[in-house]
Amino acid sequence: MADNTNEFVQWRHAPPNLWRYCPLCRADLIDCCWDGKMRRYCSRCGFVYWERPLPAAAVLILDFSNSEEIVLVRRRYPPEAGHWTMPGGGIEAGESALQAAIREAKEETGLEIVVDGQLGTWSTPTGETVITFYFAHPGGGTLMAGTDAEEARWFPLDMAPTLAFSTHREALERYLSVPRMHQ
Ligand SMILES: [Zn+2]
Repeated sequence: MADNTNEFVQWRHAPPNLWRYCPLCRADLIDCCWDGKMRRYCSRCGFVYWERPLPAAAVLILDFSNSEEIVLVRRRYPPEAGHWTMPGGGIEAGESALQAAIREAKEETGLEIVVDGQLGTWSTPTGETVITFYFAHPGGGTLMAGTDAEEARWFPLDMAPTLAFSTHREALERYLSVPRMHQ
């Protein structure tokens, strides 16, 4: 991936007030009430800017063959650049949440994963992103940081750094709170 430090491109969607022109026909967008909420609307071609959260997937990769260890990645880009999280990222068009989790794990850690189950779905505090978390174990590949991860490594569960995002912390807590989810 090119060195792109533009955090807007990296992860944000644009709030409605920043949408000035129709992306389809270039006419001015106007405010219009749709489904009880003001939305940006193109009166020429009918385009409506539906403000929605971005769907994402993340994965807790575990290895219980020797000790309880998890794979974390250190983020290269904002938000929370330099901090540790589970591998994950946005779901691409044409991809399921599960497929996105598997792809992101491979891209960021080099590992091919076998998904064992789903932990749940959480909205970020701002409501900007909705993340479905899975748990998995490695099925192949070699651990190596890639794309938007600066570093990828195994941590013993009890020595893992605090995860950068509350959603990731909650997903990990869910995993730890369910007895023997992994056995
Ligand atoms: Zn238009």
